[in-house]
Amino acid sequence: MAFSSFITLACPPSALRYIHTEHPQHQETAQPRSRCTLPHSAQAATGLAGPLPRVHASSRSTNGPIHVSYPGFEFATVGNWTGTLANAGVEVTPDAYGGENYGAYIATNSINPANRTRSSRSGYIDPLPPRDNLAVLPNATVTRIIFDSSNKDNLTATAVEWASSADAARETIKVRKEVIISSGAMGSPRVLMHSGVGPSDVLQAAGVDVQVNLPGVGQHLQDHLSSGLVFQTNTDTAASLYASNANGNTPIFLSHVNSAVAYVNLTVVLGADGEATLKQQIRIANALSTSVSTLVPSSDHTVKAGYEAIYNTTLNTMFLSGVAQIEILYQLMDSGSNGTNVVAIQAGLQHPFSHGRIYITSNDPFVEPLINLQYLAHSADIAILREGLKLAPKIGRSCPRLSTRMAVSTISSRSSTTTSHSTPITRRRRRMP
Ligand SMILES: Cc1cc2nc3c(=O)[nH]c(=O)nc-3n(C[C@H](O)[C@H](O)[C@H](O)COP(=O)(O)OP(=O)(O)OC[C@H]3O[C@@H](n4cnc5c(N)ncnc54)[C@H](O)[C@@H]3O)c2cc1C
Repeated sequence: MAFSSFITLACPPSALRYIHTEHPQHQETAQPRSRCTLPHSAQAATGLAGPLPRVHASSRSTNGPIHVSYPGFEFATVGNWTGTLANAGVEVTPDAYGGENYGAYIATNSINPANRTRSSRSGYIDPLPPRDNLAVLPNATVTRIIFDSSNKDNLTATAVEWASSADAARETIKVRKEVIISSGAMGSPRVLMHSGVGPSDVLQAAGVDVQVNLPGVGQHLQDHLSSGLVFQTNTDTAASLYASNANGNTPIFLSHVNSAVAYVNLTVVLGADGEATLKQQIRIANALSTSVSTLVPSSDHTVKAGYEAIYNTTLNTMFLSGVAQIEILYQLMDSGSNGTNVVAIQAGLQHPFSHGRIYITSNDPFVEPLINLQYLAHSADIAILREGLKLAPKIGRSCPRLSTRMAVSTISSRSSTTTSHSTPITRRRRRMP
């Protein structure tokens, strides 16, 4: 990662602070003293002269199993987020949890405010009394579902096979009623394929006996590919504090997660008059038949029909609506090269027209499957992501600042399947228009 030039901004280094919230509402963060102040008109329009937007009590209950809160450790620049976005032309949502998920806000997380730990296990598992019919096997990998295949037209699951490692003996659990497969977007098709349920050509090539030829298994894989503009900063970031162990990497510090987000639709991305959006829509509509014949990674007609249905739904119901096509994220968890501290403003595609697939290549369930996401195979994905990315320098230049020095130097990409690192995909040392 290289930084070509720096523009020194007016904002002084931001102070870090802990926040402690018992309720799902964000505490007001003191604005750093700065020549980069929020204009009065923007303050009046967004209500940001006072505290940051709060979660409306009517959008939340107080007695559910899952706690919702904010991280125990937050950065002062996150408090600048909504004001900065408002000045960059992105609306600030009055209540992101009231059914209208658009605009800029500080997201809540499933965090227990009492101890800043994730609240799902303590909400759903820990309160359960001992039960004979419940066993949680934390180190078990399901290797396949075993079927009674005496009636090929009506397979019945009779057991679930699992193992604790590739070399360990296979164990089985008998099934009396049903099996619910909830192994996630990658895990569920993988389990199905190893059980003989999936595209017959894939299963045969992998050496798995075909129980059911189901060509759609593993298809229509979509990922929120995002690309970010990296800014160098001389203040601490989550990555730098973690690396230096400055806070002892306590549970409170480790509860930090990127929470400053914005969801923007195409009129924000392409222009408020809607003309560019309409032109893009026509272009995509015209590209349907070519896309079906060239981009679907299957020759099966049901898979092609599925692609067409998703394509049309995205185009006709989401494209011209308030539904976001781009997610903007303020990223504080990456490290720069040579010990530099960096923050990034990312733009992520929400509804890509490029679909990929996941498929197995071996009959060993411990061999990783192949994932081909066909990123940016559809030209509309490139166009929308590019336009979304243009918001990043605009946000970087808007007040109040999110970083102390700005160097539009590197564009890096990440996907939700590869979040532990980022890979530069486009030109280095390039300024955005
Ligand atoms: C980086 C990232 C950021 C995200 N951000 C958000 C967000 O801000 N808001 C939001 O709403 N959603 C977000 N999501 C999406 C959200 O995490 C998923 O939609 C959600 O977790 C899906 O839940 P699930 O139970 O279907 O699958 P998962 O949460 O993926 O759970 C599947 C589980 O099955 C296990 N498993 C897989 N295969 C096997 C096997 N063979 N045997 C045994 N166990 C197996 C896996 O280890 C995993 O624990 C994000 C996802 C990612 C990756």
